[in-house]
Amino acid sequence: MSKNRQELCRTARQAVEGDLLLGGQIMAGGQNPLPARKGGKKGGEPATGGPAAHAPAGSFATPDYSAEEFANLAPPQKAQALNRLDESEVRGCVKCVLSKGRTQTVFGEGEPSARIAFVGEGPGEDEDRTGRPFVGKAGQLLTKMILAMGISRESVYICNMVKCRPPGNRTPLPDEVQACWSYLVRQLAIIRPEVVVTLGNPATQGLLGTKEGITKIRGQWRQLPDIGCGLAGTPVMPTFHPSYVLRQYTPDVRGKVWDDLQKVMDRLGMPKSNPGR
Ligand code: SF4
Repeated sequence: MSKNRQELCRTARQAVEGDLLLGGQIMAGGQNPLPARKGGKKGGEPATGGPAAHAPAGSFATPDYSAEEFANLAPPQKAQALNRLDESEVRGCVKCVLSKGRTQTVFGEGEPSARIAFVGEGPGEDEDRTGRPFVGKAGQLLTKMILAMGISRESVYICNMVKCRPPGNRTPLPDEVQACWSYLVRQLAIIRPEVVVTLGNPATQGLLGTKEGITKIRGQWRQLPDIGCGLAGTPVMPTFHPSYVLRQYTPDVRGKVWDDLQKVMDRLGMPKSNPGR
């Protein structure tokens, strides 16, 4: 690793673990793309220590799309497929009541072939205003978390369970998540990430189809159940939502999130500036 890269990683890591986060500043740098996929590990590979690959379906109805529809898409095709899904279905969607209060939909953004997809629960006020996911204070912290991993925000994919802002930033209701579910499943099917990082309870419980709380299962490798589109078995790392970290800004909580991210880095063979903290 170059000296500059080592310095970037060290500084960003300190930002995650240190007091800079309270200031809400976005670190400069983080220009590194995520190292390319290696042949040996695929998204569907069973995660170490997780349940069986063919876990039962989750809480939400599996969309009726075949895995073949999304298999072997080249990067430009992935970008086109994501744009098509956004433009032809999501932007004009009125499938649930959240359409009534939104300024605009927030589809998601990032690298169409990303190895890591971060999934939160829903857009907040800043996201509703800008149309981009995770751009408020919690989003700035997520960006720092990603930079601390030594990669750029642009090299991952970031989206939410629901694409419209719930009023007052409340948790999306199950029928709202169900209405939006096929968009999320198809996003993940197109991107085919090697790891999904779920941020907080709604995303973790929704995607894993579990009632276990985030405090209990964060940091443990899990797998996507059979949510359709050939995604079953995709490794999932649940961690705290950045907004929770901002509310519970303790060395313990920050350290736990950093530990979770380091597990992702280990799995993907990403270089670490300071293994073992
Ligand atoms: S939250 Fe999803 S399902 Fe509901 S209106 Fe928005 S895009 Fe459609």
